[in-house]
Amino acid sequence: MCRHCPWLRTLQPAQEAKLRELTALFLQQKTITPVAGLALDAGQRMLLAALCCLPLMEFGREGLHGWTELVVYPEAFRVQRSHVDAAGVLHEWDDELIGESWDSGPLILSWADVQADIADPHAGFCVAVHEMAHKLDALDGAMDGTPPLPREWQRQWAHDFQQQYDRFCAQMEAGQETAIDPYAAEAPEEFFAVVSEYHFSASHVLEQEMPTIAAHLRRLYGAVNVEPGHARLKPSR
Ligand SMILES: [Zn+2]
Repeated sequence: MCRHCPWLRTLQPAQEAKLRELTALFLQQKTITPVAGLALDAGQRMLLAALCCLPLMEFGREGLHGWTELVVYPEAFRVQRSHVDAAGVLHEWDDELIGESWDSGPLILSWADVQADIADPHAGFCVAVHEMAHKLDALDGAMDGTPPLPREWQRQWAHDFQQQYDRFCAQMEAGQETAIDPYAAEAPEEFFAVVSEYHFSASHVLEQEMPTIAAHLRRLYGAVNVEPGHARLKPSR
């Protein structure tokens, strides 16, 4: 479907057929809105739709429920944050993001970062997959790192993810080296979104570092071809 994108080029024929179907549905159901001077042609829109649908090849079209718009910035974008602390003091600050996803609001991506992911496809990053993992996570009404799954599997998932998340946070606090992006320690939902990126772009790293998590993701997303890679670091998403 997209010759230049390694994640799409290496799919099995059955996976590719599913992805084509989901991508067509995505383009039918979602509005893709380039902003801040960005223009996207039909091929670029299809590429974005296909990347967003990568995590749905096993999960299916239900994964597209609950939102209608993909907003695309030319590059990393700034958002204003505010928080009232326990003492009632309002804190406001700017955050630079390469992607964002709201429960029922738009999915937002930086086009420059989507392209950077594709240019370095085995580095452990795929911001489109990251934001789609948040969308899957939010489907059951709770952004907690657990997507809607059959009951028994969900119970096992919640247990295994909590255990691995706690272990990862402890490693971070102890200053230990890890091959997984430290951003995963931010929150359980970020942990799920970050390991989802590794599943598609550096699955061998995930398999080595977190075999139990890798097995859950293989079941959720389907198997991907393994190719060697290296790690790099990125801002919030
Ligand atoms: Zn995130």
